[in-house]
Amino acid sequence: MIYCRFQTEAGPQYGEVVVRAGTLWIERLLPPFEEDPWTKLSVARFEPVPFGTVKLLAPVVPSKIVCIGRNYREHAAELGNEVPKEPLLFLKAPSAVIAPGEAIRIPALSQRVDFEGELAVVIGRRATKLGADEDVRPYIRGYTIVNDVTARDLQKSDGQWSRAKGFDTFCPMGPLVTDEIDPRAGLTVETRLNGEVKQQGTTRDLIFDIAALLRHITAAMTLLPGDVIPTGTPAGVAPMKPGDRVEVTVEGIGTLENPVES
Ligand code: ZN
Repeated sequence: MIYCRFQTEAGPQYGEVVVRAGTLWIERLLPPFEEDPWTKLSVARFEPVPFGTVKLLAPVVPSKIVCIGRNYREHAAELGNEVPKEPLLFLKAPSAVIAPGEAIRIPALSQRVDFEGELAVVIGRRATKLGADEDVRPYIRGYTIVNDVTARDLQKSDGQWSRAKGFDTFCPMGPLVTDEIDPRAGLTVETRLNGEVKQQGTTRDLIFDIAALLRHITAAMTLLPGDVIPTGTPAGVAPMKPGDRVEVTVEGIGTLENPVES
């Protein structure tokens, strides 16, 4: 299934997205996902609307965002880092999440704010201590796109990454969640700044694949429905400035586009 979250007069709603005659439509409203206490199930009748005509919201309201650092060899190298021996985890503040089209705000505290286009896993079922032979797919609701925006200078000077990764607006997410793709097949992850291609990778090059990531994370912490796991960024990260427009496209999901403002 493919779904999005969008604003209606009655408040945020989830909608199933279908392709009709080559165009995306929101076909019907879905019951709220468990992580979002503010969404009420609408009982009103719903006429299908073209996907492009609604005000999209971030498709997930996560209790936590568990990111993976240095999960593409060439990206680790471009920042002068070794490839880690086991997945490198860090948390991104859920309050940083913004919707497609919403502005990324460059904080005055940073001189260099980079984009990081990433495929992200959305958890569908509570997951604790997944076993080595356990199939992880039943725990995955689907996949979306995250731009793991990073204050690169503060990431270095702080010595840890909470502030550099956690500013308000530093987690654009969307435009939808789909379970109709398989990252193991190799999906292109591409980031464009003002239309120019800056990052182009494939999920085939993930150092630690999604099963390995979920096992590693759940060995330490329980993943809850709606938690989001951005899987790392390919090479080509670069800074953004006010007035820029950044787009992240993941094959089979779509494009997450955000303007950059001061
Ligand atoms: Zn990242």
